[in-house]
Amino acid sequence: MRLDLSGVSVRLDGRPIVHEADLVVDDGEFVALVGPNGCGKSTLMRTIYRALRPSAGLITVDGDDVHRLSWRESARRTAVVAQETPAELDFTVGEVVLMGRTPYERAAADDEERCARALDRVGLGGGEERGYATLSGGEKQRALIARALVQETRLLLLDEPTSHLDIRHQLEILHLVRELGVATLAVLHDLNQAAAFCDRLYVMSAGRVLAGGPPEQVLTPELISQVYGVRAVRRTQLVFEWLAP
Ligand code: ADP
Ligand code: MG
Repeated sequence: MRLDLSGVSVRLDGRPIVHEADLVVDDGEFVALVGPNGCGKSTLMRTIYRALRPSAGLITVDGDDVHRLSWRESARRTAVVAQETPAELDFTVGEVVLMGRTPYERAAADDEERCARALDRVGLGGGEERGYATLSGGEKQRALIARALVQETRLLLLDEPTSHLDIRHQLEILHLVRELGVATLAVLHDLNQAAAFCDRLYVMSAGRVLAGGPPEQVLTPELISQVYGVRAVRRTQLVFEWLAP
């Protein structure tokens, strides 16, 4: 598995939002995408999962142009947890997770067991019959991650997967995703967290991918100050680590 973006530009309402982005995710890698609000991260993600078309450039998964794949083939390769997640689905949690099996043959005998395992992994074990609409924001997020897991793809796209979660569940999800060993591109906001979990990261600013590489090389005080307009200072502080239950 390899995701490869080369020279990807995206326009929305005639306005250029993403400019000539180059980005790669290799098999099994956990890659973070960071950058200030409004810099174009979600627009780039949406273009990768085909909610948008690029105005220029090419996006391939395993060498195939994603915009030329059938929906089914595309959904077998790439699972997505989007930033704007549906809040009011009138389904049970089990039904929502089962939607992840849509790209496969209908109703395989072990689908329900797959769903149960995925719910277990995200800490919602046994919750199949709960109404999705009744879940907290964090639980909804985890149910949608379970849906992505049962899709059994080799590429996972996550747009701010930890945004509604408390610190423990943030760490739990990041651990879970990293342990999956599935190639992942995740938009993250917490730079320290991104640095702690990812193999490589890309920094976006004003529609451009400015830098990419191992976090310790990329996240320099100079770049952070240029991109975010804040000063980065190294201090001793509380660091939160996940404790297995
Ligand atoms: P990020 O995810 O990095 O916060 P977005 O990709 O959501 O940023 O947005 C980047 C820019 O594109 C913003 O200026 C936003 O206002 C604009 N934008 C996002 N979606 C649309 C849209 N559907 N139509 C027009 N402009 C949009
Ligand atoms: Mg966004």
